[in-house]
Amino acid sequence: KNFGIKEALDTLGLKKNNPGTSTGKKWYKASGESIESYSPADGKLIGSVYTTDEKSFNKVVEQSQIAFREWRKWPAPKRGEVVRQIGEALREYKEPLGKLVSYEMGKSYQEGLGEVQEMIDICDFAVGLSRQLHGLTMHSERPNHRMYEQWHPIGTVGIISAFNFPVAVWSWNSMLAWVCGDVCIWKPSEKTPLCSVACQLIVQRVFEKNEVPEGVSGLVNGDYTVGQWLAQNENIPLVSATGSTRMGKAVASAVSGRLGRALLELGGNNAIIVTENANLDIAIRGSLFGAVGTAGQRCTTTRRLIIHESVYNEVKERLSKAYAQLNIGNPLDTQNHVGPLIDKQAVKSYEDALKKIKKEGGTFVIKGGVLSGKGYESGCYVKPAVAEVSNDLDIVQQETFAPILYLIKYKTLEEAIELQNGVKQGLSSAIITSSMYDMERFLSNEGSDCGIANVNIGTSGAEIGGAFGGEKETGGGRESGSDAWKVYMRRQTNTINFGNSLPLAQGIKFDI
Ligand code: NAD
Repeated sequence: KNFGIKEALDTLGLKKNNPGTSTGKKWYKASGESIESYSPADGKLIGSVYTTDEKSFNKVVEQSQIAFREWRKWPAPKRGEVVRQIGEALREYKEPLGKLVSYEMGKSYQEGLGEVQEMIDICDFAVGLSRQLHGLTMHSERPNHRMYEQWHPIGTVGIISAFNFPVAVWSWNSMLAWVCGDVCIWKPSEKTPLCSVACQLIVQRVFEKNEVPEGVSGLVNGDYTVGQWLAQNENIPLVSATGSTRMGKAVASAVSGRLGRALLELGGNNAIIVTENANLDIAIRGSLFGAVGTAGQRCTTTRRLIIHESVYNEVKERLSKAYAQLNIGNPLDTQNHVGPLIDKQAVKSYEDALKKIKKEGGTFVIKGGVLSGKGYESGCYVKPAVAEVSNDLDIVQQETFAPILYLIKYKTLEEAIELQNGVKQGLSSAIITSSMYDMERFLSNEGSDCGIANVNIGTSGAEIGGAFGGEKETGGGRESGSDAWKVYMRRQTNTINFGNSLPLAQGIKFDI
């Protein structure tokens, strides 16, 4: 069925004015203040969401704690069954939710659908995981003793999410946390509040049907102040925060100040190395999608291309041709490759970055610029830009959340790896090469210092099966696949004596 926006909103149960605070059962209008959500696609008002005040925030936290006492007792596979049903519900709502993601955030409709698919995939992953929350057994050094470790739920998990993945990031966290026996409180981005209300409504129906305790899924809309309440609250043992490094530093100091646990997924400054013997078809395709997809607003967006001098000019020319063919326009129109930036403030940062590139000595291969006129009325559309730069420019060292690609030339692989690692962030990296030596060196302990290192695919995006996250100023957290679930649980080591005496460890004697 082809959903129009109005139909999508109706199907998802969204109104013009929506409450923004929920315990998973009850909804609160809270402060009476609201966030109006405008689409960057056409500049129109989509709807509004009431923000959470401190009193209702505390109510949601309190309810989460009541819920936790019961939820942690449900057998994990039974919790998995509830998550399985959420996956089913998401399959049912995939199109309207994908459309809302596209319309409220500005990514292409295909990417909106892809984001919902990622939610479905993580549900499937979490269902399997619900039967595999394994611990280890150890051999005790004492006779007639047994040791093992087990994983218990940690409690209330606070989730702070960014605008660019308005639904998937929440699901990466919440689906795993739920099968682990935790309860969640979500503080979505103030730039995409309607997506959060839609998700909460979908989950609420499944929870009601399964008589899941009220408080397992909390929602608190609002700006950074609500995020600060989450970070500071001593009843929230784990805060998972996705967003800028600036935000991560603030959250980290608040959470560590009370000795809580923070899972941080912050900014990237990702590079692809293109070696002399690279398959250039792969290099161009991977770089193009990586640099302009989601209008350069992915944490894994390709921001730097580090190209061997022998193929530099060819890559530059082919990229220029490819850029000339890009269609920029409404993300709901599947003919378009590049949609808008999230808002006018993002457009301003993009323009400032272009000025800085020039001022600091970079030269443009493809000039950017803000688009105006028919179809661009929202004022959020910009042209993807490409510039030749030196890696140490101040602007290149920063993550500008826009489609700006930097070209950097190298001579030796050692130099290329040094350039790739020569930024403060450490999220995603890639090498395009047909040399086994180059590939292995790039992946070795003196190679890429990022959380993600790819070969012959770009930097952008990731499969849910692997642990996702990065090093250095990217924050060090890991989410999604592999054993990322462990961060949502507390580890307990157990020693059991099944003998009739009490031998002490390390041979210590204590005779009386
Ligand atoms: P942002 O930091 O402005 O906001 C992210 C979230 O943090 C929002 O919900 C916001 O309200 C909240 N927030 C802001 N300041 C806070 C504070 N002091 N205390 C508590 N909460 C606070 O980021 P954004 O513009 O929404 O998103 C873009 C950024 O997110 C980019 O840097 C991007 O790389 C990063 N990101 C990283 C990943 C990852 O997995 N590493 C994924 C997506 C986005």
